[in-house]
Amino acid sequence: MSKTIIISNRLPVQLQISDGGLTATPSVGGLATGMKSVHSGGESLWIGWSGLTEEDTPADLESEIDKALAKHGCAKVNLTANEIDGFYFGFSNRTIWPLFHYFLEYTEFELDFWNVYKSVNQKFADAIIEQSNEDDTIWVHDYQLMLVPQMVREKRPNTSIGFFLHIPFPSYEIFRTMPWREEVLEGLLGSDLIGFHTYDYERHFLSSVRRLLGLEVSFNDVYQDHRVIKVDSFPMGIDYKKFRDAAIAHGKNAPENRSDFQIKLDDHKASAPDTKLIISIDRLDYSKGIAKRINAFEYFLNKYPQYKEKVRLIILAVPSRSNVPQYQLLKKEIDELVGRINGELSTVNWTPIWYFYRSMPFENLIDLYTSSDIAWLTPLRDGMNLVAKEYIATRIDKTGVLILSEMAGSAYEMNEALLINPNNFEQQADTLKQAITMPKEEQMARNMFLQNRLERYNVEVWANEFMNALNQKSEGDDTFV
Ligand code: UDP
Repeated sequence: MSKTIIISNRLPVQLQISDGGLTATPSVGGLATGMKSVHSGGESLWIGWSGLTEEDTPADLESEIDKALAKHGCAKVNLTANEIDGFYFGFSNRTIWPLFHYFLEYTEFELDFWNVYKSVNQKFADAIIEQSNEDDTIWVHDYQLMLVPQMVREKRPNTSIGFFLHIPFPSYEIFRTMPWREEVLEGLLGSDLIGFHTYDYERHFLSSVRRLLGLEVSFNDVYQDHRVIKVDSFPMGIDYKKFRDAAIAHGKNAPENRSDFQIKLDDHKASAPDTKLIISIDRLDYSKGIAKRINAFEYFLNKYPQYKEKVRLIILAVPSRSNVPQYQLLKKEIDELVGRINGELSTVNWTPIWYFYRSMPFENLIDLYTSSDIAWLTPLRDGMNLVAKEYIATRIDKTGVLILSEMAGSAYEMNEALLINPNNFEQQADTLKQAITMPKEEQMARNMFLQNRLERYNVEVWANEFMNALNQKSEGDDTFV
């Protein structure tokens, strides 16, 4: 029987080794949820890194780990600490991530990183070949594994291979600065279907293929060596029902079921009933524009001083990639900015910014979404931005205003939000004022459209549409001679 093989850098299972032995807990991230319909029963296998380096894995636990993963339909690729450094923290997050998010000044073109990236991609490809048959369908995920499709194709010329990129694909002018640009394109073109979040990323990719490899491109088909590779956009959705149900069961909608965190938020709101809460939630990443947002907030308070003591910005910055120097610098910059602005503007009754540097349990995340009048998300560049979608999904009474950067992939599907350019402080100050004063009826009218769309194009639909397109592609005979 043929299987579906899913490949991503990390497995959707959390392993923990303690005195009590080994525990394996399924993770609840967006991708894991979306893939549920694809990764089910005994007909699929998910291959990825377990999160434990070879050095951290006691030899006598190897087979126990394999068994625990197998129970969740998973198989691991073993990586050493050195490989993680060069492949993940190095090439993936110091070369591809900044370059594909248009941060050329942070991009490091290090031959050593590239070499480790290639050898680790080969390890993933070898694991796939070992674990799969010719008639299996393979779905490779994201920027850490862009060479895998071609590496698998060399050994499996007839296998159906899909690839989805979860981050932006940059314009040709940016992409062409990379020394190994042709190899990366060739790696991706080992696929039968290549998916992006938006039509623009798709267009950028096709333009690079045409200009750097000189291949024929017709509409969204690439012609190479008697093969046709399909390129398309599949905007990723969220598990709408999960967020909606959680908002009904927790948050401000369920007074009988409030968390301690929600009780404190409610107490605060009761003590300052005409203060608006503005929420921003991101991983602490330079692509998210957190520092600019804080500066824009100060600009807003100076432009419209009547809102001092009447608004509060809650920043939830989730620690991320803290081994990478650029992230450490950003953390310092944000700490200082928040300190300076709170120091300058706070009063006895009011602190303008509440800053949390941590991740929140799901239930508290829902509390924040449901308790905030405004969500203000200002990425300078973002493949999609799921937080924007999650905020809207939790607005049970349909109130709430979303201010969203037009540089986020999700902005293409969220036209009813207030779209802003994160570099334009004047526009953002005015938009914040518009959000604060927006009549409830207008909020509800905008959110009704947004919610309907999010409910329809949820993450399961996203995964199924990709798989259907891949299956159709392999059923149709579109090789050319
Ligand atoms: N998130 C989380 N814990 C937190 C805050 C956020 O798990 O404390 C989740 C959030 O629900 C969302 C994801 O992190 O699903 C962030 O996804 P997004 O697409 O916005 O950005 P990314 O981090 O993938 O760049």
